[in-house]
This record gives sequence, C-alpha cells and structure tokens, in this order.
Amino acid sequence: MIARVSLEIALRKEFDYSIPAELAGQIDVGSRVQVPFGSRKILGVVTAVAEESGHANLKPILKVIGAQTLVTPKVLKLARWIGEYYCCAPEIALKSVLPEAVRKEDAGWRERLFVRALAVTGEFPKLPKRQQEVWNIVEERRELPLAELLELTKTTAATVRKLEDRGLVSITSEVSERDPYARETILPTQNIILNPAQAQALGEITKAMDTENSSRTFLLHGVTGSGKTEIYLQALAHALEQGKGAMVLVPEISLTPQTVERFKARFSSGKLQTLVAVLHSHLSAGERHDEWHKIRQGRARIVIGARSAIFAPVEPLGLIIVDEEHEQTYKQEEAPRYHARDVAVMRGQMENAVVVLGSATPSMESYANCKKGKFTLLNLPERVDDQKMPQVRVVDMRQAMFKEKGPPLFSPQLKEAIKQRLERGEQTILFLNRRGYSTSLMCPKCGYVANCPNCSVSLTYHRIEQKLSCHICGHNEKVPLVCPEPKCKNPAIRFAGTGTQKVEEVLAKLFPKARVKRMDADTMKRKDDYRHVLGDFRAGKLDILVGTQMIAKGLHFPNVTLVGIIYADSALHQPDFRAGERTFQLLTQVAGRAGRGDVEGEVFVQAFTPFHPAIQFARRHDFVGFYEQEIEFREQLKYPPTSRVALLTLKGRSEEKVKFSADHLKRELEKKLKNLKDLVIAGPAPAPLLRAENFYRYQIMLRTRAMSALSRELAIIVQSLTLPDDVTLAVDIDPVSLS
Ligand code: ADP
Ligand code: ZN
Repeated sequence: MIARVSLEIALRKEFDYSIPAELAGQIDVGSRVQVPFGSRKILGVVTAVAEESGHANLKPILKVIGAQTLVTPKVLKLARWIGEYYCCAPEIALKSVLPEAVRKEDAGWRERLFVRALAVTGEFPKLPKRQQEVWNIVEERRELPLAELLELTKTTAATVRKLEDRGLVSITSEVSERDPYARETILPTQNIILNPAQAQALGEITKAMDTENSSRTFLLHGVTGSGKTEIYLQALAHALEQGKGAMVLVPEISLTPQTVERFKARFSSGKLQTLVAVLHSHLSAGERHDEWHKIRQGRARIVIGARSAIFAPVEPLGLIIVDEEHEQTYKQEEAPRYHARDVAVMRGQMENAVVVLGSATPSMESYANCKKGKFTLLNLPERVDDQKMPQVRVVDMRQAMFKEKGPPLFSPQLKEAIKQRLERGEQTILFLNRRGYSTSLMCPKCGYVANCPNCSVSLTYHRIEQKLSCHICGHNEKVPLVCPEPKCKNPAIRFAGTGTQKVEEVLAKLFPKARVKRMDADTMKRKDDYRHVLGDFRAGKLDILVGTQMIAKGLHFPNVTLVGIIYADSALHQPDFRAGERTFQLLTQVAGRAGRGDVEGEVFVQAFTPFHPAIQFARRHDFVGFYEQEIEFREQLKYPPTSRVALLTLKGRSEEKVKFSADHLKRELEKKLKNLKDLVIAGPAPAPLLRAENFYRYQIMLRTRAMSALSRELAIIVQSLTLPDDVTLAVDIDPVSLS
C-alpha cells in the first residue's frame, strides 16, 4: 500500500510514500504523518491511499501522529476549496485547518500519575504514622492525582511508593484532560419563552434543519438586545435533538468568559461537561489540543470559537452560527486569506447544514445576498422586554469649536450628561478609536511631524510611558524636547490629535471623584486584565470605562445609561470604500451598549461632519436606510457587493523594484485575462499605507463578478510570474481592508 502525502511546505505538489508493514492499518486519508524529504523529516497529511504508485523506489512513512485521522474527508474537501478560491497553495490551506497544538506532534495529551486505593484482603497492616495519614486520604478519596496527594499530605513520593509496595494503592499514569473552564461554576439555565418575532425566526430555522438535504443560509438581522443569542441557543438544542453537532463562531474580541458561559450554562452543566468545546487563542496549547480532540472524538458536540473554529471536525454537522457576521476579524490577514463567514456558508452547502448569520448591522454583502434570494432574511426589529432603543444625539463639534479655542474633548452637552450619571450612580462608557495620548507630534513653526522611520505614519505620543511609538511596527523613541529639525529647534513643539490616555487625563480633571478605567491595547496586556476590569465595572466598582474598539462590542451592562463617542468621524476619513459602512457599524454597536437595563439609554455622538449619512442613519437606528443609499454608491463604482475584489499587493525594500514589478504584473494581467469580460483592472498604485515596517507596497485591484474564474486564472499567472528576489506578491481575494 502507498499513501499520497501533502507536505507542510508550499510546493503545490503531493508525494507518494510506501506504508511500512508495522504501520499498516493505521494510515488513512487524513492521517498526520512524518516522512523523509531529502535529508529532512517533514510533517504532512495523507490525501489518498492506493494499491500502488506510478513512481518507483518510494521512501517509507516514518510515523503516524495521533490515534485517529486528524483531517476528516469533509474538512479536507473544504481545505481544497479554500486553496482554489483564495488562490493559495493547497498545503497552506490544509495546514490552517488544524490548530498548531494538534498539528505539531509534541503537544499531546497530558499524562499524570494517579493514586488509587486497592481492595484490602485480610488483616489491615499496622502502618507507620506518616503512611497511615497518606492512606487515610487515599481511602477517603478512592482516587486522586499523585501531585495533589503530595500537596495535601506534605510528603514525598517515596512514602506513597511504600504503600504501593504493601499492595494498598496503585500508582498509574493516566490521561488527565485539561479543561480551560474547570474553575468556573456555571449554573444551568433554561429556555426563555420567545416573543413572536423570535418564535417565528426560530421556527424557520428549525424547519430548514428538519428538511432533508437542504442547506440554507439565514441572515438574522436583530438590533442589539433583540434576543438573537436565545435563538442560537434553542437552534443548537434542536441540532442536538437531531443527533447532530453544531458550531458557533464569534469574533475573537467577543469571546469573553461571559459569552462562553452563556453557551456552557445551557448545554454542559453537570455530567455533560464536555458537550461544549471552546477554541480560541487564549487557551494554552495543551488546552487547545484537548478541546479539539474532544470534538474529534465526538464527546463535544457544540464548538464555540473564533475564526479558525470553522474547521473543527464536527460530524455530522447540523448547524453553523456566525455571530456578528459583519466583523472584519473573520477575515484572516495572512495566507490562506479566507473569510470565516464565507467558508461557513460553503461548509454548510457541502455538508447540508443550516447556516445562521447574525448581526445588528449586517454586512452589505450578506444583506445583498438576501435581496438576491441567496440568503433568507429573518428580522427581530425590537428589543426584548419592550426596552427602547437609546436616544442618540449628534453633537456638532464645529459649533463647540467656535466657542472655545480649538476643539474641546468634551462638548458641554456630554460633560453635563456625565455629571448627571455620576450623581445618579449610573455608569458611562466613553469610546475613542485611538490609543495613546496624542496621535502626532508636530512643530507649528517649521511643519515638522514625528514620523516612523519604518512606516509612512506619524508616531503616537504615549504620555504615561513617555515615548513616541508606531502603531504599525512597534518602533519606539524618546520624546524630543525641542523640534528636531537642525535649523528650527523650536521649543514650542506641539501634540495634536487625541488618544484614550488624554481622555482619561481630562476626565480626571473634570471629575476628580469619578472612578475611571481605560481599556485599550496598552492597558490590557495580560490574559486576565480584560476580565478583571469588566468584572469591576459589572460589580459597580467603576463609574466610567474609557476605551477603544475593545469596549465597542458585545458587552452587556444593565447600569450603563450613557455612551459618549468622542470623535465619530475619525473612521470616515479612511481611504477605503467601506469607510462609511464601518462608521455606521461602529456607531450602532457602541450605541447599543447604552440602556440595556431598566433605565433608557442616551448616546452622544460628537462629530465634525454631523450630517454624514453614516452618522445620520446610525442616529435613527436605520440599517435599511443606510443600506439603500450605500448600495447606490457601490453600484455606481462597481464595488462589492456589486462585484468582487481581488487585491494584489507587491512588497519589497526598494520602491523602484516594487513599482517596476507592479507594472510588469499589470501587463501580464492585461494579456492573460482578456477573456474575463467584466474585469476591471485598477492600478498599480501605492498602497494607502505606502511604507510599513520598512517595506514599500504597491497594489493592483481587480474587480469582477466571476471570482471563481478569476481565482483559477490568477493561480496560473502567479505561478509563472517571475519577480525580483526581494519582491513578494500577496493575493487577497475578497479583501476586507485595503490598507
Ligand atoms: P442579542 O443577542 O440580540 O443582543 P440576547 O439574546 O443577548 O440579545 O438577549 C438580551 C437579553 O434578553 C438576555 O439577557 C436574554 O436572556 C434576554 N431575553 C432573550 N429573549 C427574551 C425574551 N423573549 N423575553 C425576555 N427576555 C429575553
Ligand atoms: Zn512603524
């Protein structure tokens, strides 16, 4: 017997190996194996098994990893599709479907020594005092880890060994499963009676699940607090009743203990503790290994995780839920550059599973798919319990600016609103999408701006750490006391723009008694920071939470009655056709944090372009209105969802070479893609962020409706393209960010 193996190196080629007699019966499609390759040993996945090979003198497979095949045939098929559609080497796609901890052979099960009491026959021996103490504990517990026993009795393993010699206990090595949630006490919850809109939505989903051989995709459009999660929970229960498994994807950032707990509480209390497996980047490699294998062994039936959980080997698969489907983080920003939502829809089709995409602010793509009849739209127009949507007030900062010198951080309206909340003992969230103190350092005399030496961006001033730092590459420098231009040396060098540190500082001056905490990438460095701050906020130990993106999503705090958005238009001025959509989503999401309890919420949106449609539609909570006007703009310019985009980025240290290569690629594309009728080739042009980490970047943007056809052609062009050694090309199909 021989096996065809896809190696973990991007060769776009598979190799045949012989299966040695001692491994016969252990190797199948999907097995992870180690094979010789030249003088090296390389890991790979078996993609086919056959009687014989067309090649002679095959080398033998060296070893098999894991007792079970790791890549199921269904996941293998999905990986193949990803390689083709996202235009990347199949080995790269295949590699990404297994978590690192499962792929690498070293992170195996954890074995621990257990001590177990044996049945005593005959008369019980008289033991020395120490041994008797140890025995008493073992007898009482019947079985416990050796390490725990030693800890409890403050003794050494030698004492326990003596009990073993006497035939009183056994010491054996056993797999001890790591459970990342072992320390949590999670109380079980029951189904909630659904309101009519929820009941109807759930009914349609379960009906589709009950229909044989029909994969359907639903878009559940429901405002924040409209009860979407309750629908997910009940649809998951339905999948379990059908004897099927399911997965729930959430953006990494909303994978908080709070979210996980809601799912665990419904499905895995008591003895069924392994029913819900969790996969995300905050787990240790060992925990990830164990969680993944619980799924593979079929003991976990529901998977909740971030982007890459879409590859979990759940079988048979009945339901895939993608919460906050509009989130950019579903897109992987390195090869394979897949979009987990789109992969979910594809996987649903391949495995006849129902897919539910949920959002308060659906992506233009998904909503357009509903209009085209590809997805089915389900609406939850109101909050549960008749809670009102928060009042959103847009504050025109141009007016606020005339009254004082320069734009103030807080408009008088927002200041007053914060004061009221403090007096009433209610909580406030303040949002600003920039960390640091000031966003740039400039000299008003000569116009000098402190820029990163490696990237085409200005450096951000971090006051607490007293440094200038680049948010792209992490470069840090000291803060100059005078303008560094040799001819200028102006001491009145100034900071411009505002970051979260400054908001925190100004708040401390305005409201010295308020208990304020800042949440951004600078303060949230350790694994538990996030949890602690949110815990304190929930417990009412804080009055005001200041933060970036991190606090925009998913959080549910009943006592928050005020949300302030410091600069609503900062996201609008991005060189990206999705800038308006992003702003609308962000404002709506942040606003959704207010008034989730009994008191109606209020939101202040401070803006310099208060009449921009993204701001005005967000103010009225009008997603459909926003969609209708935005789709016109996309249609006119043939941008997604009207067409699809492939973004080709060339990157290198010499701008000249990059530019030359881009021109060369453009000519190749024009020559070889003539038969794609609706294709638009734009560029090459410098990327919006021309220079990042010392690399220059130029882009070519391709737009077409027939992306699968374009991907196929691109793969051929990319393979035969010759570029200078130090210039690389990245192909991004359906990019979510153009920078
Ligand atoms: P979403 O996911 O849309 O933000 P949730 O499902 O989190 O909304 O619902 C918000 C809150 O309302 C949760 O505490 C949830 O338990 C509760 N809830 C959901 N559905 C109902 C209902 N029909 N009646 C009362 N409370 C509900
Ligand atoms: Zn930099």
